[in-house]
Amino acid sequence: LILSCAAFAMAVLLLAAARSALRRVPLSESIRDALWRREFHLVYQPVVELKTGRWVGAEALLRWRRSTGEQVRPDVFISVAEESGVIEEITDHVFELVTADMAGFFESHPHFHVAINVSSIEIQSPDVVSRLTKFCAGVTGANARNFVIEATERSLIDPEKARNIMEEIRKLGFAVAIDDFGTGYSSLCYLQTLSTDYLKIDKSFIDAIDTESVKNDVVLHIIALAKDLQLRLIAEGVENAAQATYLRDRGVEYAQGWHFAKPMTCRELLSSLGRQTAESIGGPNPSRQP
Ligand code: C2E
Ligand code: MG
Ligand code: MG
Ligand code: MG
Repeated sequence: LILSCAAFAMAVLLLAAARSALRRVPLSESIRDALWRREFHLVYQPVVELKTGRWVGAEALLRWRRSTGEQVRPDVFISVAEESGVIEEITDHVFELVTADMAGFFESHPHFHVAINVSSIEIQSPDVVSRLTKFCAGVTGANARNFVIEATERSLIDPEKARNIMEEIRKLGFAVAIDDFGTGYSSLCYLQTLSTDYLKIDKSFIDAIDTESVKNDVVLHIIALAKDLQLRLIAEGVENAAQATYLRDRGVEYAQGWHFAKPMTCRELLSSLGRQTAESIGGPNPSRQP
């Protein structure tokens, strides 16, 4: 009995190992497959100017809905894509989706920007510059200034390379943002020489506002730092009015978060913006937000 129990346990273990291997190997493969089958779409989260409440831009965030109906979170598939070398294909697909979603849009909204997440692996290779040029030229009515390129601080792997490439990107007229600022490794010295327009304060620091005074101090230091370096700040993950007021009163210019708007489809974004414009032109209540 003991022997057959042990054999059974062994069999269960082997089966579990085989299953997890099966699950791990195909994800990168199924990303390629999903690109082919067009299972990805973008949602857009508005970027709000804190002083006025106006929507000045939106961040494009990728969504993957598998044919089974299952949604895969971007934190999961983006890191798999980075490790398995399909990240460039993902980003090129994002370019394609933005090109279709935003065709002609900037002609009526010349000051609006769309922020695109580019993996810091790509910021290591100069061909991102030509890929961006080609992308921008393909968006009807768009100019490089209509785009913000977001790179995470976490893996700006070779700082020297990243710095040169970010400089190239800015020379083309794109704005550049350091995403999830405060969670990565870049030293202050490095930041000083980095070619960037925006710092996005990571949500973990925003969460701490009105709870932990120690982390509040960190936010205040980031605000002071940005002022010294003449960088603009975007607060990420603002979930309540107290956080929004706190940030606005301390001079943070922009914010994103569920307090203002959740990520939405392109269609929802465009119709909300249409309403906002109509109201500011002469609607009954110009200060109302969409
Ligand atoms: P991120 O670029 O820092 O994007 C912000 C994330 O915070 C998004 O999650 C957004 O939906 C979420 N968020 C925004 N406001 C709030 C809030 O008030 N509360 C909470 N709890 N969450 C909020 P999402 O869409 O799941 O994306 C996660 C990460 O995946 C992104 O972080 C980004 O690093 C990556 N990612 C998403 N789309 C792309 C893409 O197209 N390309 C690349 N390379 N990475 C992407
Ligand atoms: Mg981002
Ligand atoms: Mg972020
Ligand atoms: Mg993040």
